[in-house]
Amino acid sequence: MAINIRKLKVTDTKILGSNMKRITLHGDDLSDFPENQESGYVKLRFPKVSEDIGKNTKKPFDLRSYTIRSFDPERLELVLDFLLHGDSGPASKWASSVERGDSIEIAGPGPAILASPDADWYLFTGDMTALPAIAVNLEKLSPESQGLALLEINSLEDKQELIKPSGVEVKWIINPEPLNGCSDLINALSEVEWKGNNPYAWIAGEFELMRFARQLIKHEKSLPKDSMYLSCYWKIGADDPGMKKAKAALILLDSLKNIFKF
Ligand SMILES: Cc1cc2nc3c(=O)[nH]c(=O)nc-3n(C[C@H](O)[C@H](O)[C@H](O)COP(=O)(O)OP(=O)(O)OC[C@H]3O[C@@H](n4cnc5c(N)ncnc54)[C@H](O)[C@@H]3O)c2cc1C
Repeated sequence: MAINIRKLKVTDTKILGSNMKRITLHGDDLSDFPENQESGYVKLRFPKVSEDIGKNTKKPFDLRSYTIRSFDPERLELVLDFLLHGDSGPASKWASSVERGDSIEIAGPGPAILASPDADWYLFTGDMTALPAIAVNLEKLSPESQGLALLEINSLEDKQELIKPSGVEVKWIINPEPLNGCSDLINALSEVEWKGNNPYAWIAGEFELMRFARQLIKHEKSLPKDSMYLSCYWKIGADDPGMKKAKAALILLDSLKNIFKF
């Protein structure tokens, strides 16, 4: 099936806290963009510099995934929040310096990634790359929902005002050095006091968080498949294609362990 590529322009940028940039994209190509995909993702296409073309792949661009924070079908505006982690990757580099009027191509969207509405207790865990999707999830929970959100941010200033049910507690965990790992977040996750008879776990972030969460949620808590979303959004020391390879290898090893019980 042909991939629908949409050509958009940046119409607004805004710094959120210290390490995030909200970027608004607009264009007529959004006229058939589906509604209600917030928390799902789009893939942005960053043209490779000419000397890099053909090095690891035949594609002339790098693809990176970003969560749909909001979409306004009337104004044809798509809003994405970018963690700025420096110039080492094409997405963060682009987001750091982007200006109104700049162009970008996107593919997608992928489906919304929302916690089941049927759970009686929710656990959200993630770092700043997962914050846009967790924020959407919290906004969409029913007002009487109960739960806990463990949110790792790089600095106090990165705290965001979240629209959420009063029964969902938010714990902010400051990690100024995410490239040294997320041990405080993993510790907080390991110490969670689970509640409810039908809990839902929504967890995404760095590779080590996903590795720990898979063991805890799938194997120790044995949550059913439709009561969890566990995903790796990035990996220390690996670009996005490298992260995907590591993620696939971990999932394969996990399945083999499960079959052969080693
Ligand atoms: C479904 C999905 C949704 C996502 N949504 C968002 C979102 O809404 N907002 C958002 O900011 N990110 C989001 N991410 C994560 C984002 O796609 C990755 O962080 C991606 O690697 C960034 O691409 P890059 O070109 O900047 O860096 P890459 O070229 O992929 O990597 C270059 C270097 O940067 C490092 N790096 C990558 N990500 C980070 C990071 N977060 N912190 C520190 N170092 C990093 C890598 O380890 C590598 O050494 C999402 C990922 C997925 C899979």
